Amino acid sequence: MKDIWSRRDCLVSGGSLLTLGATLLVSGCGKQTASAASCSGDATLTDSDKQARATLAYVDQSPVSGKECNNCSLYKAAEPQGACGGCQILKGAISERGYCSAWAPKSV
Ligand code: SF4
Repeated sequence: MKDIWSRRDCLVSGGSLLTLGATLLVSGCGKQTASAASCSGDATLTDSDKQARATLAYVDQSPVSGKECNNCSLYKAAEPQGACGGCQILKGAISERGYCSAWAPKSV
């Protein structure tokens, strides 16, 4: 009786699974989304930039209900939405869900 899966079938299927896995891994890289990734790992920040972020106690996830970077008047929204944005007073990537002590409400 012949095996249902030949060695060739297994190799082809395994190769396809590896390709699929690699594709999923690559497609997830390079997109810093505010919900899934930290916006604090910006390697271009100088020590001074990092100190400013620390002084204002910037965090990627706001600990204060109703106060997040995305409703702060100083937030520069990301394109595409969900990616790390920016801030008018802090350099580097800023999470839309973040917060710092300089939070100021958007005017209506
Ligand atoms: Fe976020 Fe603070 Fe910048 Fe406002 S000032 S956008 S709360 S980092």
